Amino acid sequence: MNDWVKATVVGKHQWAEGLFSLQFEAPVADHVAGQYIKVALDIEGERVGRPYSLVNAPGEHPLEIYFNEIPSGPLTPPLSALNPGDSLWLTSTASGIFTLETVKPAKTLWLLATGTALGVYLSILRTEDPWKRFERVVLVHGVRQASDLAYGETLDAIAKQHEGRFTFIPLVSRETREGSLCGRVTDLLNDGQLEGLVGESIDPENSHVMLCGNSAMIKDAKQILEARGLARHRRHEPGQYTTEQYH
Ligand SMILES: Cc1cc2nc3c(=O)[nH]c(=O)nc-3n(C[C@H](O)[C@H](O)[C@H](O)COP(=O)(O)OP(=O)(O)OC[C@H]3O[C@@H](n4cnc5c(N)ncnc54)[C@H](O)[C@@H]3O)c2cc1C
Repeated sequence: MNDWVKATVVGKHQWAEGLFSLQFEAPVADHVAGQYIKVALDIEGERVGRPYSLVNAPGEHPLEIYFNEIPSGPLTPPLSALNPGDSLWLTSTASGIFTLETVKPAKTLWLLATGTALGVYLSILRTEDPWKRFERVVLVHGVRQASDLAYGETLDAIAKQHEGRFTFIPLVSRETREGSLCGRVTDLLNDGQLEGLVGESIDPENSHVMLCGNSAMIKDAKQILEARGLARHRRHEPGQYTTEQYH
């Protein structure tokens, strides 16, 4: 049984059509960067909850999630209609093992995201952890339309704070946009373009790769990484890549 606590919406931002961040205050225990919380609304007499990664750093308030509206989904249409002052439910503790806790330090941390999976990496990048364990961090954000590239100011601030150690690569798959590469994350990974851009190869000795987002990206990226000798990281069986599938 979930232990639900009441939360109040204190902030809302719409990045593009159907693309939102919501901020709330709630008595929720501190999370580990990379974890998710369950968010719920009572809809037609039933509590409908879904997991969402926390975007804020541990200990930072308000709590924040970043999500896109799925018109046919039960939760996201009413969730995106909430406004400051409205209430919702959250689980009182966060869960999940998509964290750096048991990951071995290496030269470069590669963070690959599709869509709203960017959010989980913002929480991780706002902690000291990746900067203590890795010399360099590369974040690749794949979206369909350029208008879905969000959190630009936050990314600029991270780049400024960690000058020379952070590389952000926006990737747009369905249109061309100045300053962004065109294509899918796995295509650029497969043909070596990504590594060419960064000037480093992804290999088991020097890399840890985190994959978060849709199932097709994760499935294809896993195959490419395993062909290069990387293994899935498990708590008791260290490897070089970790995954979290949103849908
Ligand atoms: C561990 C975990 C963490 C998650 N964190 C986030 C997060 O931080 N932000 C976020 O936006 N989503 C996240 N999700 C997905 C989220 O829990 C919901 O599934 C999603 O928001 C849709 O909810 P819904 O109730 O409207 O529709 P659902 O009934 O959950 O899904 C309806 C359909 O839409 C598909 N779908 C779900 N999410 C997406 C999507 N983003 N884009 C396209 N199709 C989708 C589902 O596969 C399903 O076919 C996470 C999922 C998991 C398992």
